[in-house]
Amino acid sequence: MQSNKGQSHGMRIVGDQGTADASARTGATEPLSSPASTPTSTTGIVPGSAEPHETSTDPTAGAPAALAHEASAGPQKAPQTTDNTDSLDPNAVLTDADRAQGATSPNTPTLGDVLLAVEELWPASLAEPWDEVGPVVGRPECPVTRIMFAVDPTLEVIADAISRGTQLLITHHPLLLKPVNSVAATGFKGEAVHLLIESGCALVTAHTNADSALGGVSDVIADALGVIDTTPLVPSKDGLPEEGIGRVGMLPEPMKLGDFAARVFETMPSVAGGVRVAGDAAGIVQKIAVCGGAGDSLFDAVRDSEADVYVTADLRHHPASEAREASLNGKPYLIDVSHFASEWLWLPAAAKALANVLDEMGHEVEIEVSTVNSDPWDFILTP
Ligand SMILES: [Zn+2]
Repeated sequence: MQSNKGQSHGMRIVGDQGTADASARTGATEPLSSPASTPTSTTGIVPGSAEPHETSTDPTAGAPAALAHEASAGPQKAPQTTDNTDSLDPNAVLTDADRAQGATSPNTPTLGDVLLAVEELWPASLAEPWDEVGPVVGRPECPVTRIMFAVDPTLEVIADAISRGTQLLITHHPLLLKPVNSVAATGFKGEAVHLLIESGCALVTAHTNADSALGGVSDVIADALGVIDTTPLVPSKDGLPEEGIGRVGMLPEPMKLGDFAARVFETMPSVAGGVRVAGDAAGIVQKIAVCGGAGDSLFDAVRDSEADVYVTADLRHHPASEAREASLNGKPYLIDVSHFASEWLWLPAAAKALANVLDEMGHEVEIEVSTVNSDPWDFILTP
């Protein structure tokens, strides 16, 4: 199974790229906001974007190019409405009335069709053994006219998706990672399952398979930070040579750690926790290791890679402290970012990649990125 999947997904010709290069299917190497990179398809994308960190009142000032979408509405703590009229093909945009009626066209895919595209992009075989990926809620035969990507299947995210007529929510994090004995609506997970089913909204997880895949979370982070010539920190056993957990690559030019940390800060969606750095701000970095989400299990691989700095999330005291103690000449430096923010970066690229594949399959669907900020932290106190 793995060889078939690896081969087919490596040979996939996607969208308007006209190439068998697997990276083309993901859109990860494209500037996310470039008009030229948007698929010329009947599949409409309603991109989200990140808020810049600067205190400027201009919503796009300082925003990284990759995230400076026109209808700027990055992750927010409260649900908000975005303008859907920037979809690429006006004919593909459903009206509110259409949405209310669940209007479909002859080219509307079923959930089963979309799952084929999801498998094409993020093969389940790439998931870690402990993970649970794929469909969680939904009937394969049901039509899907509107898809939303989000990091977390929180109740706020689900409610927002449902309010926007979403028929398929694709989240990075699993709702039901651990086995459950009940989905009664007496707890938040059961409530989530009920809300989804009662609203006719399917739920699909693309987690460590999306981390590992070419164009996955760490590829997008590396790309957004200007890191090139990347390879996996831990290559996948079941995928392409370029696939696996984490990435390490080079900046075209060396730069000071302080300046690189500022780049990280400006690239990530704005969250309360900001960015933490361990190391000499004047130290020079060029070889960069990244891992979206919690990456403190990869320190050995990071050291083996001889990276100058490691960008990841959820760094706890002891792994971070011991990594600093074990460092050579202070390296690798550490940059600790928000788990949510690091993975949110992937969503626009994932939406674009899925749009490309569905378009290639002849399907029409609207895809958007959740603008709900599901980072659990609300404020921070610093000295
Ligand atoms: Zn995560």
